[in-house]
Amino acid sequence: MSSNPFDLSGKVAVVTGANTGIGQGVAVALAEAGADIALVARSDASETVGLIEKAGRRAITIKADLSTIEPCELIVDEAASALGGVNILVNNAGIIRRNDAVDFTEDDWDAVVDTNLKTLFFLSQAAGRHMIDNGGGSIINIASMLTFQGGIRVASYTASKSGVGGLTKLLANEWAAKGIRVNAIAPGYIATNNTAALQADETRNRQILERIPAGRWGEPGDLGGAAVFLASDAACYVQGHVLAVDGGWLAR
Ligand code: NAP
Repeated sequence: MSSNPFDLSGKVAVVTGANTGIGQGVAVALAEAGADIALVARSDASETVGLIEKAGRRAITIKADLSTIEPCELIVDEAASALGGVNILVNNAGIIRRNDAVDFTEDDWDAVVDTNLKTLFFLSQAAGRHMIDNGGGSIINIASMLTFQGGIRVASYTASKSGVGGLTKLLANEWAAKGIRVNAIAPGYIATNNTAALQADETRNRQILERIPAGRWGEPGDLGGAAVFLASDAACYVQGHVLAVDGGWLAR
């Protein structure tokens, strides 16, 4: 047994949307801390597999489309049988649709809420059942600044990420006594595909940078330390918390 409370040796983490962006950054950080990783992705995740293997850990890829809850139980079963269990779940996969509230469509509502909130809940349920039967675990949800703020032109995204904050607390309340910790990370503005349009818009990019005390966009790797902390015994008494990793955005 390691004396380092951040050590994840012997743990298995399932990370959704791990082919790119924040999911890739978190998956690699968990591997560098010692965990084997089941990458859940609908696109090619070989780059992330390579980075995890370079860190000396095992990686498997589970192909799944998370726009429906259909693959949830299979993901947990496959990860557990290939890697020997599931101790950590990172619910990272997510999408965003932008439109004025007066024009927002049902499709843009359903697509975002189904992926970001409904699947997050039912994958947590599948992992939670496994963890309850196997000595507990840690679930980390990727929230957003829009877990705290309203945003603009992103009605379904704000609804979904505000919902992620609520579900994080609900699941923490129900499962703390069963040995499962449920927390969330709220990233600030991170340079990924998800924010490519904002980075490319000169005015928005300048406005965003002016408000970030750290004076720069975050990188996916900036989320790694928070994920390792919440996944590990170092956070053994941290429950139902939404940890902002935002370069100071919310403090402004
Ligand atoms: P990203 O680079 O676009 O990554 C999103 C990930 O989710 C990709 O792996 C994507 O797969 C996956 N995904 C989306 N829909 C899926 C589906 N139906 N089935 C399977 N996988 C699906 O964006 P990101 O910024 O890293 O986003 C990761 C998470 O962080 C999201 O929940 C996002 O809301 C949240 N977040 C991001 C920021 C930011 O500033 N970037 C800020 C706050 C919160 P594909 O590559 O195949 O599309």
